[in-house]
Amino acid sequence: MSGFDRIIVVDWSASKVPSPKKPSPDAIWMAVHYAGTTVCTYHRTRHDLIIELCAHIDDALSKDERVLAGFDFPFGYPSGFARAVNGSDDPLALWADLATHIQDGADNANNRFDVARDLNAMFPGVGPFWGCPAALADADLPAKGSVRHGHGMPERRKIEAMIPSAQPCWKLYTTGSVGSQALLGIARLQALRDRYGAALSVSPFQAPDTPIVLAEVYPSLLADDVAALQGADEIKDRAQVRVLADALAGLPRDVLDAMLCEGDTQEGWILGVGHEAALRAGLNNQPPPLKNDCFALPSGIEWTPVDAALRDLKTRLGPVVGTQNIAVADALDRIVAQDITAVRAHPPLPNTAVDGYGFAGGRGDGLHRLALVPEQMTAGTRPDVQVPAGQAIRILTGAALPDGVNTVVLQEDVTRTGDSIAFYGPLKDGANTRKAGEDVKTSDVVAQEGRRLTPADLALLSAVGVSKVKVRAQLRVGVLSTGDELVAAGAAAGPGQIYDANRPMLLGLIARMGHVAVDLGQVRDDRAALSARLDDAAADVDVILTSGGASAGDEDHVSALLNEAGSMALWRIAIKPGRPLALGMWRGKPVFGLPGNPVAAMVCTLVFAAPAFAQMAGSTWRTPTGFNVPSAFEKRKKPGRREYLRARIRDGRVEVFASEGSGRISGLSWAEGLVELPDGALHVKPGDPVRFIPWSGFGV
Ligand code: AMP
Ligand code: MG
Repeated sequence: MSGFDRIIVVDWSASKVPSPKKPSPDAIWMAVHYAGTTVCTYHRTRHDLIIELCAHIDDALSKDERVLAGFDFPFGYPSGFARAVNGSDDPLALWADLATHIQDGADNANNRFDVARDLNAMFPGVGPFWGCPAALADADLPAKGSVRHGHGMPERRKIEAMIPSAQPCWKLYTTGSVGSQALLGIARLQALRDRYGAALSVSPFQAPDTPIVLAEVYPSLLADDVAALQGADEIKDRAQVRVLADALAGLPRDVLDAMLCEGDTQEGWILGVGHEAALRAGLNNQPPPLKNDCFALPSGIEWTPVDAALRDLKTRLGPVVGTQNIAVADALDRIVAQDITAVRAHPPLPNTAVDGYGFAGGRGDGLHRLALVPEQMTAGTRPDVQVPAGQAIRILTGAALPDGVNTVVLQEDVTRTGDSIAFYGPLKDGANTRKAGEDVKTSDVVAQEGRRLTPADLALLSAVGVSKVKVRAQLRVGVLSTGDELVAAGAAAGPGQIYDANRPMLLGLIARMGHVAVDLGQVRDDRAALSARLDDAAADVDVILTSGGASAGDEDHVSALLNEAGSMALWRIAIKPGRPLALGMWRGKPVFGLPGNPVAAMVCTLVFAAPAFAQMAGSTWRTPTGFNVPSAFEKRKKPGRREYLRARIRDGRVEVFASEGSGRISGLSWAEGLVELPDGALHVKPGDPVRFIPWSGFGV
């Protein structure tokens, strides 16, 4: 993967007023690819974009991370322009000069036409800049390009000659208005140069070996891919920055580094031109990033079957956490980030599986008598002994076989007299020994990427000489309770109030899943308070699990807020217990909005959140492990919904909790797992096999 921790792509705009409040085309869009996720944001002004961009860069610098930021406007002009304006071919001197003349307000009001007019005045004839509203046109700045003459500048840069669809940088107005974008953009980027100094370089004018690298991009390079990957309701500008960020993030480090060094160091260059195939490969290299619309549901489907919902989660969610190297001793329950191979074979040498006497070759029927050599072989030693043919050596379990030994007779089968032994055959050649590498060979994969390490895995890794492992950083899951009626444990509860039962339960489940459970507390049914809490949470955790307020009622503010953020889908899943799950993105972080009802909250967590979180944590998708057990109950079930019953096994039969009431927390505590009844109609009679999934089968 690329040598950058964050890849940012910006679709720039030269608008003179703020873009509409509602996310719109032809405005500023930014895609930030970070830790496996690409998040897109919409910005109404250049000022707003720069603030957000600097926040990303500052955060990255504070974490020692590198940032590549791409902008879709020319970083330079045809050669000769900088010298004509500034007396030097240095494009960055031109940047500094332009920045002193451009005024660009927080409300997008700017003086680009005036600056272009002044620049034109430095050239003979008319031009090279052109294009402005008719009322602003004059002898120095023509409205039409065709009236320009005699200014002496080439119409295009070399790179633009390679891309006929790119607009020339002299054109200030109407389609593309690339000239205006460049004047305003260069001034803003010069401000970044001033702010970040030596930490920032501009490709290809400078070597891209700084923490922050700026580069010119052209999202239309991947037009076909964008068309294929654009979401149904997604604005094209958004899809363009998103897809290009993904493509760049998927490039191998050396490939991206080489691309950043390419091009004309006076005129500038468009990153990746001529390497479209590599970019496309980069796109395919990506783990599917979490998109803002990753929870969108196909329209028209009333009730999504459980399996379809799980399939969707499986295909849309990918790892969102980075990797780290840790000692095997600390790696219990951690998720392997890269296949682990044996450093050493196991066993490393042929050895004996029993206490006994070793010699060469098997023996036939009858009595055998062998002289003993004086040495003794114990585990952990390997004296340089050669056992002569026809003689034997005393050898203890685990000891490496000395030269001349490949067979061991059990000491219980031997009579020892002085320095010889006697025993009865037959004994097979190689009996009671272990071959080198018979368990694991050097370089065998001993733990695959995505595996959650068990105590036995730690034994295996240690046995084959592995001491450090590359694992995923732990997923941080925030747990938030919502509802005016909730009181935290220990507080005084007024009439009508109830204690918050979900939060301790969900925090416990998350911890059992091997993630970091972050207590986000509880919040009233108040949109502003909830929104503020989600903001804080999104900055701290990888995924947010809320309970309560997830339906479509008046007080269901979780779904209302996610809806407003434009990223929510209410998953009506055909499951009992469980009302809709509200799934959405909040400031780039997925939110799982669970029903408030504790039974439904727990079932939905086990069935949906557990596998989804496992996958986000870098683990392979896990299907709960259940098994069939004769039923101790009778139940008729209607078709249409999958049902989960609180259950436990007693005397070889599975019994279910007396009440199916979904508010009965006592039933959750009584149960040791769930019985899963299929979607169709069913009549379970005592003794019929039903599928029981113990809590451990859900990974908790
Ligand atoms: P809601 O999904 O917000 O409509 O809540 C559904 C039911 O679950 C209501 O009876 C709530 O009082 C209850 N509930 C919501 N949150 C919790 C919680 N954290 N602990 C216990 N019960 C809850
Ligand atoms: Mg509520």
